[in-house]
Amino acid sequence: MRHSGALRESDIDQALREIRISLLEADVALDVAKKFITDIKEKAIGQNVIKSVSPTQMVVKIVHDALVELLGTSTPINVSTSKPYKIILVGLQGTGKTTSAAKLANYFATKQNKKILLASTDISRPAAVEQLNILANKIKGADFFRAEDCVIDCSKIAKYALREAISLKSDILILDTAGRLHVDEVKMEEIQSICKTISPNQVLLVADIMTGQEAFNVAKKFSEAVPVSGIILTRADGDARGGVALSMRAVTGCEIKFLGTGEHLDEIVVFDPVRIADRLLGRGDIISLVEKAQENFSQNELEKEAKRLQDGTFTFDDFAKQMEKMSKLGGLKGIVKLLPQSNQIEKVLDQSGVSDNIMARNIAIIRSMTKKERCNYKLLNGKRRKRIATGSGVSVQEVNRLIKQYEGILNMVKKMKSKGFIRNLISMIQGK
Ligand code: GDP
Ligand code: MG
Repeated sequence: MRHSGALRESDIDQALREIRISLLEADVALDVAKKFITDIKEKAIGQNVIKSVSPTQMVVKIVHDALVELLGTSTPINVSTSKPYKIILVGLQGTGKTTSAAKLANYFATKQNKKILLASTDISRPAAVEQLNILANKIKGADFFRAEDCVIDCSKIAKYALREAISLKSDILILDTAGRLHVDEVKMEEIQSICKTISPNQVLLVADIMTGQEAFNVAKKFSEAVPVSGIILTRADGDARGGVALSMRAVTGCEIKFLGTGEHLDEIVVFDPVRIADRLLGRGDIISLVEKAQENFSQNELEKEAKRLQDGTFTFDDFAKQMEKMSKLGGLKGIVKLLPQSNQIEKVLDQSGVSDNIMARNIAIIRSMTKKERCNYKLLNGKRRKRIATGSGVSVQEVNRLIKQYEGILNMVKKMKSKGFIRNLISMIQGK
């Protein structure tokens, strides 16, 4: 895809094949992925390629934007429309319903100063009710309702909980329900009868983002049986890429309202489609990296530097300058966050001990060199190295290591003459 101008069908086919694989790898259901690819193809053909990005990146951006559109925005839940505002959480066992019930309570209590009543109809497991009670106790502004032991009918519990919410003048009633390990075992009639009894304002389906392909089935069964109005995706803090989000959204047509991002009460965020689209594509935000880089490196300077690199006249001064620019881009971690598979790269970075601290130290070492030394590293004999080490307050080994790194870059540059500057930079960060 080297040519510029409008996108051709052949460009798009190639890119879309890769994107389809990305989506499937990210656990998007096959039907959903297929339909998406067909739609996107129509949108992409003939679109003009912006000069500063490659056609491939352009396709990625079109796909990205379409994914964001498909994932949909998240209309905030307006709890002021009814008092009490009734929310029911449904979903399989272990997906995070009870935790999410408490997180929601905490969210509305702290962010909107609401008074909440929490209750559970998961009476088959006494520990489940107790779990919610314990969580409720931690939340200022939340009360907990426990039905008498003799009440074993779920819709009755719901009814009594509602009555309690009214008498306590609670703004919101959040009802946690029983789940099952498999969707075919879920007692949909139970949830239906609860819904009939209290007419909830929201029925939120809680799903674990790691569910994988099964998500499609879960979303289908639940939305066919009960009036699901929105989705909470939990474990968004894990490694799963988030295909579940697309399947859930496509099957139910419901908005994804919140993401659970950890085990703690405050680890819930309003759903952000951009974040999930990035994960689905597994490419990080390449375009924003390009944009950010362009802001920090003027074209002229960039070309000059690239030429110096290629000529082998890349001095320690240039090296220091580059490291400074890198910190302007947000430091190593900042850059890495924008890259695909940033999780893995971050891990490698942590293990290798390369850090922004080391960059700062390296700059200090370079500043302790004389001008001559900075231009000709071959002058750096043992005596000079020792002086530099003392001057910058580091050990001689550290000076040696920096010099070695610098030599490495010179060698690498020779090998990479033809490739783009950004890629050089990235490889440098990755230590390749
Ligand atoms: P339930 O059976 O659907 O009620 O699920 P629980 O609320 O009991 O949650 C099951 C487990 O998942 C618990 O250990 C929670 O701490 C954990 N969990 C819930 N939500 C999240 C989340 O967003 N991220 C992570 N990492 N763990 C979560
Ligand atoms: Mg539970």
